[in-house]
Amino acid sequence: MENKKRKISIIGSTGSIGRQALEVIEKLQDKFEIIALAGGHNTELLKQQAEKFKPKYISISCHPELVSGYHNAKIYKGEEGLEKICSDKENDIILVACSGKIGLRPTLTAIKNGIDIALANKETLVMAGDIVMKEAKKHGVKIVPVDSEHCAIHQCIKDINQVDKLIITASGGPFLHKSIEDMKNATVEQALAHPRWNMGKKITVDSATLMNKGLEIIEAHHLFGFDYDDIDVVVHPQSIVHSAIEYVDGSVIAQLGLPSMHIPIQYAITYPERFEGIKSKSFSFAEIARLDFEKPDYEKFPTLKLAYEMGKLSGSATVCMNAANEEAVFAFLDGKIKLYNIYEITKKMCDEHKVINNPTIEEIFAVDKEIREKTKEYISKLQ
Ligand code: MG
Repeated sequence: MENKKRKISIIGSTGSIGRQALEVIEKLQDKFEIIALAGGHNTELLKQQAEKFKPKYISISCHPELVSGYHNAKIYKGEEGLEKICSDKENDIILVACSGKIGLRPTLTAIKNGIDIALANKETLVMAGDIVMKEAKKHGVKIVPVDSEHCAIHQCIKDINQVDKLIITASGGPFLHKSIEDMKNATVEQALAHPRWNMGKKITVDSATLMNKGLEIIEAHHLFGFDYDDIDVVVHPQSIVHSAIEYVDGSVIAQLGLPSMHIPIQYAITYPERFEGIKSKSFSFAEIARLDFEKPDYEKFPTLKLAYEMGKLSGSATVCMNAANEEAVFAFLDGKIKLYNIYEITKKMCDEHKVINNPTIEEIFAVDKEIREKTKEYISKLQ
């Protein structure tokens, strides 16, 4: 990054990835200048972040009056604020760290303005991967993944034309070696007790059902342009090997590291350079001692199979799966349904969905809305 500071904005600065990104940036203060921070509902934290990092402007999803009155940053609100940030060409890079479909439009705006993206938002690729990757290519924009698996693959690939397949690792979540019965009766607390990663609630539940891995194979398909049959999933409980690739000659290159999101976040925002930054300890094979791998259990985790099927169907199929799953996860977190119902409900919505091929962004949002309403209505009738 030469001597010039890289100008960055963060969409979703108050979320799990956003907070960790600011920790990285604090360590690399001389490398970054923050243009804008955008947060959701945590106005108090956004205010603290703004006071500390002094962005030129901030955006909040609601109640802009609550963050007003600190130095002289401009304040914007809602989607308009995100659009404003993502069309500001002063940015060298934008970290899209919010979760949910709200990340899609601003990401596309940033791409159209030629701004590089560090992408942590899964929905952007799951809902509109074809459109997003096509636009990125057209505008010469780099999309560097923050998700640890994709970040690992990004680090392994030297010549993509010589890669035969992608191998995505999955920790297996808290129910890896529990029975299907245990999983059916799981409480919210049990589902949220992820053994390796500390993440937001929605993604932690997705990790318990392996839907997170399902979404990740769809992301990988779009990011790296591989057929679904050339994307394997292997369970690796220690979460040390973050993913791997196999070259045509049988050589396998994997990326390893301690399970901390700081590392992929830092990689994505400093790429192609590397800095010590947030590193706290050196990696020791001897301390780790062993690495285990096993096949995913598709019977216990049928969501993974569903994700492969919907990915292959493409078009609006993954939009439907994502929307139904998310609504079902929220219902589970609200205590309205059981963990296993998440799959059943998502599968039902996918079975009933009439896939639209090559949907436009408007059609994608329309399908998303329709499926969410349908899923909520279906869940309310289950009560
Ligand atoms: Mg991941």
